[in-house]
Amino acid sequence: MKKYFFLVTILFCYSCKDTSTKNDDIDGLINKMSIEEKIGQMTQLTLGFLSSNDNQHDGSVKSIDTLKLKKAIQDYKVGSIFNSAGSAYSSEKWHDIINYIQYLSQQNENKIPILYAIDAIHGATYNKNSILFPHNIGLAATRNIELIASSAKATAKEVRASGIRWNFDPVLDVGREPLWPRFPETFGEDPFLVSTMGAAVVSAYEKDGLKSTSSVASCIKHFTGYSVPKNGKDRTEAFISEIELWEYHILPFKKAIESGASTIMINSGSVNGTPIHGSYYFLNDVLRTKLGFKGLIVTDWQDIIRLHTRHKVAETPKEAVRIAINAGIDMSMVPNEYSFYELLLELVNEGKVSEKRIDESVKRILELKSKVGLLDNPFVENIESLKIDTNKHQRIALQAARESITLLKNENNILPLSKDENILVVGPGSKSLSTLCGSWSFTWQGKVEQEYPQSYKTIVDALKNKSSNLVTYTKRGFDNKANYQLNMTDNIDKIVLCLGENAYAESPGVIDDLTLDKYQLLLAKEAIKSGVPVVLVLTQGRPRIINSIVDDIDGIVLAFQPGSQGANAIADVLFGEYNPSGILPYSYPRFTGDIMHYDYKFSSSIQQRNPGKITFDGYNPQWPFGFGLSYTNFEIDSLIPSSRALKEGDTLIISTSISNTGMIQGAKSIDLYISDEYASISPDNKKLKSFTKVDLDAGESKALSFLLTTNDFTFIDDSGNAILEKGNFTIEVLNQKIKIKIN
Ligand code: BGC
Repeated sequence: MKKYFFLVTILFCYSCKDTSTKNDDIDGLINKMSIEEKIGQMTQLTLGFLSSNDNQHDGSVKSIDTLKLKKAIQDYKVGSIFNSAGSAYSSEKWHDIINYIQYLSQQNENKIPILYAIDAIHGATYNKNSILFPHNIGLAATRNIELIASSAKATAKEVRASGIRWNFDPVLDVGREPLWPRFPETFGEDPFLVSTMGAAVVSAYEKDGLKSTSSVASCIKHFTGYSVPKNGKDRTEAFISEIELWEYHILPFKKAIESGASTIMINSGSVNGTPIHGSYYFLNDVLRTKLGFKGLIVTDWQDIIRLHTRHKVAETPKEAVRIAINAGIDMSMVPNEYSFYELLLELVNEGKVSEKRIDESVKRILELKSKVGLLDNPFVENIESLKIDTNKHQRIALQAARESITLLKNENNILPLSKDENILVVGPGSKSLSTLCGSWSFTWQGKVEQEYPQSYKTIVDALKNKSSNLVTYTKRGFDNKANYQLNMTDNIDKIVLCLGENAYAESPGVIDDLTLDKYQLLLAKEAIKSGVPVVLVLTQGRPRIINSIVDDIDGIVLAFQPGSQGANAIADVLFGEYNPSGILPYSYPRFTGDIMHYDYKFSSSIQQRNPGKITFDGYNPQWPFGFGLSYTNFEIDSLIPSSRALKEGDTLIISTSISNTGMIQGAKSIDLYISDEYASISPDNKKLKSFTKVDLDAGESKALSFLLTTNDFTFIDDSGNAILEKGNFTIEVLNQKIKIKIN
C-alpha cells in the first residue's frame, strides 16, 4: 500500500479540482465499449482476492496486492469491488484504497469508475472505531421507525465518509425460522413489521438523492425465501406455498422497491426446487414485471457457479453462467476468480447470450454509477462534507439499544436493582463485546474481541460505572471457561447472570438445537440453587430456548444484540435509569418442536393432545409476539371507530387514549391487529396492521389514533393479489377490541 500513498495524495488534489471525465451519456458510453469491457462491468470481485493471501473474511488484515488490483481493473476492467480484506480499516486507509482503485480505473480508455460496495449491516461494519447499532432484530423491538431511520442515516454517512457509495443492506428476509443463523439480521416474524422497517431504511439511505454525501445506494436482500430453509440451515432449500411467498417473502421487497431501492441481491438458496439465481420467473416475471424493479440485480457470493456445484441445475460452470445471465442477473459477485468473465465472453461469442442482454445489464450498472455521482467524481468526495457527528451517532446508538431492550419477566419487582445492593455478575456474556455486537462487527463473524474499539464497554464495565457494590471474577471473552463457573461469595443480594450467544454470521452460525447450550443452563441452575435472586440478561440474536430455568428466575431482560452502546443501555435498564419499552418482534418459543407464529391459523388452536396431558390452545410460546413489560403500568380506553361498516376504498380512524397509571415515566409500544372472522382462504388468527409508540409521564394520558384503509382488511391469494371479502373483522389494540363490518 505504501507504494502508492504519494500517488494517492496527488490524485486526491486532482479529484478535488473535479477534472475527471464527466460522462452521463450512458448509451454513448456503451457504444464505445468492447464486449470484454462490458463483461468486465458485470464482474464483481472481493478485495481479499486482490490482496496478499487467499484467506477470506476474518483474520488478520491483508495488504492489497497492487499487481492483482491492476490485473482486475486494467486487464479485466471489472465493474465492482467489495468487502474488506480481513477486518476494519481507518477512514484514511479506506480513502487510500478507494482513491488508488479509482486512479487505476481512470487509466483505462473509457475511464469507467469502480463501484465499491460493503456490508454495513448495523453501522459501518468495516470502519475502525465506527458506532454499531443494534441488529435489526433488536431495532424491530423498538417499534420506533424514526429511530430506525436515524440509525440507517448515521450508517449511510459513516459509509459514505469512508469513500463507499453502495451498501449491501437492508436484509428484508422475514424471521420465521429461529434456527436460521441470519435470524438476528431480520426485523422479525411479521411481514408488515419487516416491510415498514425495511422501507424506512431504504428511504434513509436514498431519499436525499444518491449524489448527496449523506446517502448510499441500498441493496435489498436476499430476494427471496432465503430465511425459511426447511432444515433451518443457512443456504439450503426452502419449500414455500405461493400464498406465503407473496405474503411474507415478496411483500417486504415490494415495499422497499416502492421506497426507491436501487439494487437487489438474490437468495443463494432454492425455493420449491428452483434456485432463484437461475430463475427467469423470479428475476423477470416477479421482480421486473410484477414488482416493477428497474435497478441492478447482483448475485450473492459465488452463486452463479453454485448453480453447477451445489444446485446441480447446470451441468457445467458455463451452463450456470448462461442460465443466470439469461434469467436476468446484472452483476456476478464472482468473487475470487475470473471464470465468470471468461465463460460469459465465450457464451456471447457463441451467440448463447445476446449482446442485447449484456447491454441491458451494463446500462443498469452504468446508470447506478452515474446516480451515485461516480461519473462526476470517482474519487473520495470533499472531506469537509463527509464530517461525521460522532456524538450524535453515539446518542442514536444508545437510544436504539435502550428502546430495543425487552423486559420479559419481573417477578416480585426484582428490577430495577438498587445501587446499595451487592450484585454478583456472572456468565459468558458479562465481559464480551462480541455477544453485544454480533455478526458484521469489524470482522465478518464479529468474534474477534481485540478488533473492538477501546471505548466499547462490556456489561461488567457499564455496571461498574453505576455501582461500587459490584462483584465479578469473569474474564474477557464469551468462551472463556472461567465465565461458566459460579463462585459465590458472602453477602450477595442479587445475581446478574449474563447468558446468550457469542457472535456468528451465516453458515458458521448454524446450530442443530435452539435450546441454550447445556453449560450455560448448568450455570443458570447453579445460580438458582444458591438461593440468591437471579436476574438473567440475554444477549442473543436468536430466541434460545430456556424453559428449564424460566420459572426459577425472577427477572429476565432480553437485550438482543444491542451494539456499541448495548452495555450502557443494559446498565441503564437494570438500575432503572431507563424504563424498558421493547416488545418482541417474534414469538419466543417454549419448545424446540413447537415453533409457531402469532398469525397462526385458527385450526392450530383446536389441536388435540394426548388424553390426560395438559392441552394447550395451539399457540403456546414462552412469550408471545408483542410481549414486553415496563416498570410502570399503562391503561388504554375503549376503541372508537369512525365507522362500524366500511366498503371498498373507505378509510377508518380508530381513536382511543392511553394513560400511564404508574409512578414513573415510560414509553409504550402499541401494536394494532386485525382478525378476519371468515374468509374463502382460511384466515389467520390476527395480523399486525399498524404500530406506534408513545412517551408518557407518570399520570399522563395521550390521545391515540390509527388510520386504516380497506386494504388492511385484505388477504393475499396465490398470485399475490390482495383480496377484500365482505364480513366481520375484529380490531385489537392491547386489551381492547371492537368489531367492524366490511359491506
Ligand atoms: C452474504 C451477503 C453479503 C455477501 C457479501 C454473502 O455471503 O450472504 O449477505 O452481502 O456475502 O459480503
